[in-house]
Amino acid sequence: MKAAVLYEKEDLRIIEDFEEPVMGDDDVLIGPKSTGLCSTDRSLYRGFVPFKPPLILGHEISGTIKEVGSSVDSLAVGDHVIIPPVYPGCDDESCAPCREGLTNRCKRSVFIGHGVHGGNAELIAAPARYSFLVDKKVPLDEVCIVPDAVSTPFHALKSRSMPMHILVKHMGKFKNMAGGHQAGEAKGHPEGHHWLNGKNVVVFGVGGVGGPTINLAAKYFKAKNVVAVDIFDNKLELAGKLGATQTVNSSKYFEDNGIELKELGGRDRSKALSGLAKHISSHLAEDKFQVDLVMDCSGVPDTFAVGIETVSKNRTLVQVGWPPRPVAGFLNQKVMDKYLTITGTWACPMNEMTECVEAVEAGLVDLNLLVTNKDYSLDQFVDAIHDLEAGKILGRATISIN
Ligand SMILES: [Zn+2]
Ligand SMILES: [Zn+2]
Repeated sequence: MKAAVLYEKEDLRIIEDFEEPVMGDDDVLIGPKSTGLCSTDRSLYRGFVPFKPPLILGHEISGTIKEVGSSVDSLAVGDHVIIPPVYPGCDDESCAPCREGLTNRCKRSVFIGHGVHGGNAELIAAPARYSFLVDKKVPLDEVCIVPDAVSTPFHALKSRSMPMHILVKHMGKFKNMAGGHQAGEAKGHPEGHHWLNGKNVVVFGVGGVGGPTINLAAKYFKAKNVVAVDIFDNKLELAGKLGATQTVNSSKYFEDNGIELKELGGRDRSKALSGLAKHISSHLAEDKFQVDLVMDCSGVPDTFAVGIETVSKNRTLVQVGWPPRPVAGFLNQKVMDKYLTITGTWACPMNEMTECVEAVEAGLVDLNLLVTNKDYSLDQFVDAIHDLEAGKILGRATISIN
């Protein structure tokens, strides 16, 4: 089969006759239609992340089922499916994190396109129970971004955003607020179930994950205000289309105030970052500067400090973007004084994937706006990585496989 294979860092070859995957009784064989291009693909290509070659890249996959294993009766040939980039590798979800419902944190997590072969190939085999059926009306060349770029912020907003004191108070009262999706509930729409309804959210970084975060917070979780913060005007423009009610260009703020952040250290730096935080929340003056949630999708270390300053007392900051290095001058006194809940997040547990897919099927996620580039063929995979590095891809790019 044809596949995009990484042999060593920066040595990615399109192979015409790569060995086909072997399917087990509980698996399905999928012919990928499209894959989403993620910065993780770039990190693997550049050798920033270790991997065992040869490796087929691609972990955001949509495709059509070509064959089903002998024990599979939930899916059929011709069905459209997506596969999550991280799924449990333990038998029957039996490890400690899986037993707690954290199938996204399984001790033997399988990382598609990293630990095992990915979807930039004509065929991939995956367990049927982790292959999620998608309505055929949703375009395959857009829905491929759902497994990672959409489901990650979906889980973060749904289950990682609630302040601890509210979570404890409502435990057992609203089953749907923090746990998994309950069968039989309103399909694809929370209709006021979720605590974010009517709240104010600030999203740092309008990238591949920040875009869907804004979109979901505004459209699905029905936040009142979603303030998008970035350093690029074209990204902020996209944020507006995705549902951001206000936008802030942070570098323009520093420029307008004659602040050279790079030259500042210690107390002056803290003051400058604090000034930016005040500027961001000033957009919520109507609600007395109330920021109920900060979603840090930027992965920029300084942003964490600004986020701590931006979020209101008794509220939550979620680290969504991967920070490349530790934060200097961590504001731990602020964490205590403001009674903050700070959470990390990682991919999406299996029991929330279904609700995420339902949100997509209900048209509550603007995939057509989130996918900004879909002209790359498998042969152009390296070009796509270069374009991603050069900042030429505004939202998410998808690679056309078949
Ligand atoms: Zn990814
Ligand atoms: Zn497990």
